[in-house]
Amino acid sequence: MRIDAEPTDTLFDSRFLDGPARRVVSPNFAGITFFEIRARSILNRVPETSRVPFRWTINPYRGCSHACRYCFARNTHTYLDFDAGADFDSKIVVKINAVDVLRRELARPTWGREHVAMGTNVDCYQRAEGRYRLMPGIIDALAEFHTPFSILTKGSLILRDIDHLVNAARRVEVATAVSVGFVDLDLWRDVEPGTPSPFVRLDVCRTLTDAGLRCGVLLAPILPGLTDDDEHLAATVHAAAKAGASHITPIVLHLRPGAREWYLGWLSERHPELVPLYQRLYGRSAYAPAGYQAWVSRRVTDLAVRAGIGAADEAQRAPRWRDRTRRSA
Ligand code: SF4
Repeated sequence: MRIDAEPTDTLFDSRFLDGPARRVVSPNFAGITFFEIRARSILNRVPETSRVPFRWTINPYRGCSHACRYCFARNTHTYLDFDAGADFDSKIVVKINAVDVLRRELARPTWGREHVAMGTNVDCYQRAEGRYRLMPGIIDALAEFHTPFSILTKGSLILRDIDHLVNAARRVEVATAVSVGFVDLDLWRDVEPGTPSPFVRLDVCRTLTDAGLRCGVLLAPILPGLTDDDEHLAATVHAAAKAGASHITPIVLHLRPGAREWYLGWLSERHPELVPLYQRLYGRSAYAPAGYQAWVSRRVTDLAVRAGIGAADEAQRAPRWRDRTRRSA
């Protein structure tokens, strides 16, 4: 293992840091460099203009070794003078003091105990979490300070913390969801090379559900021309139903700057025949046309209803999920 001091002002805005950064490479994480920082704050307020159904987030990491080609968070790495491609996958910023800072912020009399969402920017259960173990302390702190929360992940590492989650769900509302856009294994290896397989993620859903924690499936992203056909959608919905998913939320791919270049570069190499379709769908916007999105969502919702899974709308309206223990109490 090698640890080097990193001049703070070359990589990060020192206004947000509480001390110098450290650059760490470990033989257990080949190809990955960790940048350990001490953050000044950890609870992030979501801008009022955002349409997401939560106002607070926690992101203990920046960058994500899950390395999904389409990851919408890629551009945020450029704020650190990293690139949105390979750097995003391999240069991971770790807020090593996340738990202490969070406890301080939760203890403020002004904290309103609003819902806190995690895994909404990058995955809080990516491989780095195996080394840094920040999430158990974060979960315990949120529960202790009566703050409801949700976790979205593609990582199976969440199961390490299942006891923390079950204990938290006895005190506060806890929501979990796994992100599984498709169950095509060839495509998975190509598009989401650093993630556990979609079936492992669905096993996570089953285990969380069996532990009494409701777990949904974010069927995202749906990739035009690759996974938007009936066969792919039906296979994914049926696998989610088998895993006990409490709901399914379909989301069509969007391509903001950063993700756009990285994903389209891959597409033109692997599926050049689809480039004209993407030019039509994403030529003017980061989002596919509303009509296309509605068409795809309707089909997923129909499949979900037929498979006996609750409507996506139900989960989107309010993530108010409790564990069985709490419901029966
Ligand atoms: S797991 Fe999520 S955050 Fe990580 S690369 Fe994939 S889409 Fe991005």
